[in-house]
Amino acid sequence: MSRLLLIGAGGVARVAAYKCVQNSDVFQEMCIASRTIEKCEELKAELDGKGTDISTAQVDADDVDQLVELINDYKPDLVLHLALPYQNLSIMDACLATGTDYIDTANYEPRDTAKFEYKWQWAYHDRFKDAGITAILGSGFDPGVTGVFSAYAAKHHFDEINYIDILDCNGGDHGYPFATNFNPEINIREVSAKGRYWENGKFIETEPMEIKRIYDFEEVGQRDMYLLYHEELESLAKFMPGIQRIRFFMTFGESYLTHLKCLENVGMTSIEPIEFEGEQIVPLQFLKAVLPDPSSLGPRTVGKTNIGVIFQGVKDGQEKVYRLYNICDHQTAYKETGAQAVSYTTGVPAMIGSKMILQGLWKKPGVFNVEQMDPDPFMHDLNKNGLPWIEDFEPVLVD
Ligand code: NDP
Repeated sequence: MSRLLLIGAGGVARVAAYKCVQNSDVFQEMCIASRTIEKCEELKAELDGKGTDISTAQVDADDVDQLVELINDYKPDLVLHLALPYQNLSIMDACLATGTDYIDTANYEPRDTAKFEYKWQWAYHDRFKDAGITAILGSGFDPGVTGVFSAYAAKHHFDEINYIDILDCNGGDHGYPFATNFNPEINIREVSAKGRYWENGKFIETEPMEIKRIYDFEEVGQRDMYLLYHEELESLAKFMPGIQRIRFFMTFGESYLTHLKCLENVGMTSIEPIEFEGEQIVPLQFLKAVLPDPSSLGPRTVGKTNIGVIFQGVKDGQEKVYRLYNICDHQTAYKETGAQAVSYTTGVPAMIGSKMILQGLWKKPGVFNVEQMDPDPFMHDLNKNGLPWIEDFEPVLVD
């Protein structure tokens, strides 16, 4: 009998909740808790009677005391954090205080600095270990599946991996001139930051969107993609022995970039508070309030995502290349869960990572990134839960 506390009720949480219910043999009981309880109740109403016993709760996940009270009251076996990256540490503190396992999909980011790093969460390793509880970090798609793909490639296809290129293509079209596919504040903080990639033992910084490549993605077509910093670069650089270079590219359309540049130029993407009519407001938070809610994009988004990883390395003394990727259709995802493919590709791995812990397959005291765990059962579950992966033994490389 296992019991999950799911925190958050946005696009990713919606998909994860749907997928947990589809796996109700593992997820027998689930409490959906978030800041706005109506969203939790809406999900419960859609999913009740389908196998998982669902309850709801209102919680402010910035408040450790509230979290501890909720955890002590519900007594979950695992907390799946799908609220925002600002809450990682408060939720981890509450898990430590109550001796409960933890999993998330994005690393901690302080609200006042647009800088995401694993150091804050890795610092919990000894405390989680001593408490005999598990924390799994970054079980979304990227990070998440990209790390599992890396562990799978290392385990089955290479003696040593030297180069990793992660390519994240969203070929979806929502018909708006400008909108973000997940939380606008988090998304814009990510893409307006400087680029960075790992090479020969250190990070090399670039200007935002300075490095552009063109790639032909199966079932999407040719797209412009730009080098970004992404959090799994930090963990893969640490946990993949022999690695010489890791880069992350994401596709962006011209309209998105032109709007972003304009918003940046007028100061709307700033996270520095300004005074407006006697009140302090953060321009980026105001921008979030006027942009379309990502959850409203589901019905109107058509097209596919194509996200994967190209590996170059050595096997049995020979140079080898290998690519693993997934293609996900926005409308298929929407029809199944009410959310588009960006939420779907994150929510499915969030459920699978949770399943790995609850089934004891990824249960180990301490704080771990997904690439440190056995990839095989996770890879098996991706195929079974709507994110099948494709292998390419002659991939086109990125120069
Ligand atoms: P949304 O903005 O759609 O949802 C966030 C949810 O968290 C909302 O329900 C929100 O409540 C709730 N929330 C925010 N603050 C609090 C709080 N203090 N207490 C309780 N609940 C709170 O985001 P997404 O669903 O798109 O993303 C969820 C997470 O997934 C994010 O951390 C994001 O970074 C991550 N992500 C990871 C990806 C990956 O591949 N690894 C890709 C995409 C996203 P309310 O409804 O009141 O606003």
